[in-house]
Amino acid sequence: MNKELRVLIVEDSEDDELLLLRVLRQGGYKPVWERVETSEVMRAALENGHWEVIIADYVMPRFSGLAALDILKQSGQDLPFIIVSGNIGEDIAVAAMKAGAHDYILKGNLIRLVPAVERELREAEVRRERLRAEAALVRYHEELEQRIKERTEELRASKVELERLVRELERSNKELEQFAYVASHDLQEPLRIVSGFMKLLAQRYGSQLNDKAREYIHYAVDGTERMSQLIRDLLLFSRVRSGNWEPSLIDMNVVFDTALGNCRASVEEAGARVTREQLPVVRGDATQLGQLMQNLLTNAIKFRGPAPPEIHISASQQDVSWLFSVRDNGIGIAPEDRERIFMIFQRLHSRKMYSGTGIGLAVCQRVVECHGGRIWVESSPDGGSTFFFNLPK
Ligand code: ADP
Repeated sequence: MNKELRVLIVEDSEDDELLLLRVLRQGGYKPVWERVETSEVMRAALENGHWEVIIADYVMPRFSGLAALDILKQSGQDLPFIIVSGNIGEDIAVAAMKAGAHDYILKGNLIRLVPAVERELREAEVRRERLRAEAALVRYHEELEQRIKERTEELRASKVELERLVRELERSNKELEQFAYVASHDLQEPLRIVSGFMKLLAQRYGSQLNDKAREYIHYAVDGTERMSQLIRDLLLFSRVRSGNWEPSLIDMNVVFDTALGNCRASVEEAGARVTREQLPVVRGDATQLGQLMQNLLTNAIKFRGPAPPEIHISASQQDVSWLFSVRDNGIGIAPEDRERIFMIFQRLHSRKMYSGTGIGLAVCQRVVECHGGRIWVESSPDGGSTFFFNLPK
């Protein structure tokens, strides 16, 4: 089946036009064509038609192949341009090729026309394909640039926002710490007055009061003491912050032995047996780590079961940290309570059963986190508890 070929013929001779059409038809094409022989008509044809190839004579009375090439260039279209001409000299042919003609064919050798048209159509398609690919690449590049610009802007905005939040957090932390400090100082004072006068009341007028009144005074004094302890613990908790210390090398054996010394009375009173393995040296704050050890020790003694407390501390080396464990044989902790005990004021028992303010483990958690570690507990009710925490090497 013949293939349609939209061909613009630049030619002054009708005979030559017919000749060209015949050759194209013989080559398997069904030409759809227009013949032009002046520049104006060619311009109009280029503007209005959709051409695949231009076949042009070289010398015409009112027009020339080179002028036709110029008009094609001005139109901005990339069409195969084949010169078909009578005898032209080699230098003219070269000039035509240099000016942008794709091929030139002698009228006496028209057998070359169809293969030349085919080749030039293919090459034009390749050029168009390349242009399409280039355009797609440019579009992709522009899109990418736009996306990078947007992401950079987003990142910049979130960095600014993050910096603002960090500043706000720092300020809020400082204010909180100051508030806790001032509040606890200011709270202790009236508390001391209440407790002092209650005691004075008991001493001076105790004999004139009945048992009920003395019992009330006792409750009041007990309340002030508890409140005083609560304020002290809160103050301690508010002070544990990572920015508050210069890290140094701390021998955890010394830290633990000192904490044990501080608990000596309750250890003896409970008949506890405390053992420790060799502990490592870590980077941190001695006071905070001491507090951590002491709270864990105190709890292990306080939450003891019927048997005398057996407490064992050890440490093992992990990839990037030391894993410490403090094991006891106390009352244990139910699985559902193992996370909340680290929250401030969370206690599992009434004050009558076990004294305390519910701040100890919250302090432990803060200390460990300020040192870049994590604390957790493994336990079963009645099976004792093991508190684990890790500290970076
Ligand atoms: P406090 O000791 O003042 O109650 P903590 O924050 O130290 O507060 O502990 C919170 C709760 O966790 C305790 O009330 C107790 O119920 C539980 N707990 C802590 N340590 C142990 C332990 N070694 N064995 C059993 N329960 C414990």
